[in-house]
Amino acid sequence: MLPFKLAYSDDYYLPIGSHVFPAGKYKRIHDRLLATGIAELSDFVTPLPATDEDVLLVHTLQYLEKLKMGTLSAREQMELEVPFSPALVKAFYLAAGGSILAADHALNDGAGISIGGGFHHAFPDHGEGFCMIHDVAIAIRRMQRDGKVRRAMTVDCDVHQGNGTAAIFAGTRTASEPLPSVPTSTLTRAKTKMHCGHTGVFTISLHQENNYPAWKPPSSIDVNLPDEIGDDDYIAWLDNALSSGLRQFDPELLCYIAGADPYREDQLGGLSLTIDGLKKRDDLVFRVAKARGIPVMVTLAGGYARNVEDTVTIHCNTVIAATEVFTK
Ligand SMILES: [Zn+2]
Repeated sequence: MLPFKLAYSDDYYLPIGSHVFPAGKYKRIHDRLLATGIAELSDFVTPLPATDEDVLLVHTLQYLEKLKMGTLSAREQMELEVPFSPALVKAFYLAAGGSILAADHALNDGAGISIGGGFHHAFPDHGEGFCMIHDVAIAIRRMQRDGKVRRAMTVDCDVHQGNGTAAIFAGTRTASEPLPSVPTSTLTRAKTKMHCGHTGVFTISLHQENNYPAWKPPSSIDVNLPDEIGDDDYIAWLDNALSSGLRQFDPELLCYIAGADPYREDQLGGLSLTIDGLKKRDDLVFRVAKARGIPVMVTLAGGYARNVEDTVTIHCNTVIAATEVFTK
């Protein structure tokens, strides 16, 4: 039995037809975790969909009404980059419910993973980049509203910047200290910008600079990585950003957005991490959180490897890395 719960439902499937987003990955991950004995059925918990009240903790009433009535404009549908349908709205509500459930379990068990979610490109008033509803922000706002946490940190390791997260939590930002100098000269090409808040939500995003989104609203810490960066440099930057963030901010919940798309075989990414390097990345996040006693909630976010089995392996490895760290 795992030392934490996995929030999952077959209905995480996104009904978007043939698409670069592998909507079937959630079930493949679930099935592989069971088939390989990494997880057993009792490790899984089934989420309920988020309520409208939950969604309104982050999104505007006007946007929610457009989703419910199916009245997104042609431009809004285009920005979403996935075909709109009422069934798709339901799937995103369920993903948000899964993130709420994973956050709740994280606060009880030290860790909680949703085999879904991580829709970090959703803004309060619109969706974009395959993301309709910001499940992670909703989970954070729910935990705050229920009085379970005051301060949360997002650590976004998807290859694309967490623009929705940055926009949603921008209100809690104040100027702060610069990042300390980095250990290796090869890293000097990466540009780090930093804006911090001392209450509320602190957002960290490590991403490829030359990639979507073109406009990157400021996170608390943005690490704009150069193209083709490999395992060692990436991990050094992550280590640096985590240390810096945790020197300035003391979160009661860490939300790790474990995108599989920094992988070198990714179709929508331009970094060069290996499958092993991505597991080391996960391991670092989990070890740092555990050492400081910070509960970790995990969502999967992107992953567009040429071979979908690689994406499944990377996401399964996140569960394995968490098991190795949290079992001890
Ligand atoms: Zn991505």
